[in-house]
Amino acid sequence: MQQFLKGLPKVELHAHLNGSLGTQSLCDLGERLYGSSSEDFQKLCARFSRFKKDMDACFEKFAFVHELTLTQEGLRFATELAIRDFAQDNVQYVELRTTPKANENYSRRDYLQIVIDAIRRAKETYPEITVKLLPSINRAEPVAVAEETVSLALELAQAHPNLILGVDLSGNPGKGRFSDFAPILAQARDKGLKLVIHCAEIENPSEVKEMLHFGMSRCGHGTFLTPEDIEQLKQRNIVIECCLTSNVKSGTVPSLEEHHLKRIMEADAHKVICTDDSGVFDTTLTKEFLIAAETFGLTREQCIDLTLEAVQHSFASEQERTEMADRVANYVAILPK
Ligand SMILES: [Zn+2]
Repeated sequence: MQQFLKGLPKVELHAHLNGSLGTQSLCDLGERLYGSSSEDFQKLCARFSRFKKDMDACFEKFAFVHELTLTQEGLRFATELAIRDFAQDNVQYVELRTTPKANENYSRRDYLQIVIDAIRRAKETYPEITVKLLPSINRAEPVAVAEETVSLALELAQAHPNLILGVDLSGNPGKGRFSDFAPILAQARDKGLKLVIHCAEIENPSEVKEMLHFGMSRCGHGTFLTPEDIEQLKQRNIVIECCLTSNVKSGTVPSLEEHHLKRIMEADAHKVICTDDSGVFDTTLTKEFLIAAETFGLTREQCIDLTLEAVQHSFASEQERTEMADRVANYVAILPK
């Protein structure tokens, strides 16, 4: 099964750029930025070795990535390395989300431009993987920042119509109010951008109701959706992005066995398997499929169906989706029976 899943040309729809760098990639990034013989790099390596032993330290990785992407060069390399990690896992298509940041080295516009340039360059090194970009709104930040992000996303989508396809709403679900962000999200949608929304990550029935009423193209996590919510999403053909390891490690789901993927499967609603932050949670899309298969008894056929479901719910063009489905079909055709 593992070998089959590794070789499967997978489709990743919920991945945050900064969380998607594996430990090796973080080391490589540190080495490129600081040089392998520098004292800074040796210190970094000593801190990294903790990740291998201490699971709780995984969240510290966010702080490292933050440190290592404070410069234009760091951000550029980090984007390239995240794409490398997905390509090495035979992911044929990924929609990367990232919150544009500003500091003394780059503005939010520069940030997005650097990521766009890195994605375009990575196409030469990793031609097998198609990468799209979804700028993220961090709900913990002021609405004015969200307005800037949406205006940049709209402007840059004009220049790169096949690359920037939508915007994401994410960040600490305990912070900010959805209703404050709804007007700017509506504006993005009216102007042609798709919306992916982190929804029902924590128990907040009134907000979930607002979000479902507002609508979205895809629902991130959906941990605390009621059976009625799930039915509603099913009827409206809205897919739920399930991130097993992420939910268990971040504590919103008590165990893999209790993950809501089970309820979603029983309801026969639309679902896809995603990593969320593969580097931080030390996972890959292959591992997530394997965990789902081992926990819920998924067969090869179900894993193929889930991949094809991801193809259908991606924001890729019709031609790209046909090509992705063909790659899956070609892979399945050569498998030993
Ligand atoms: Zn997420």
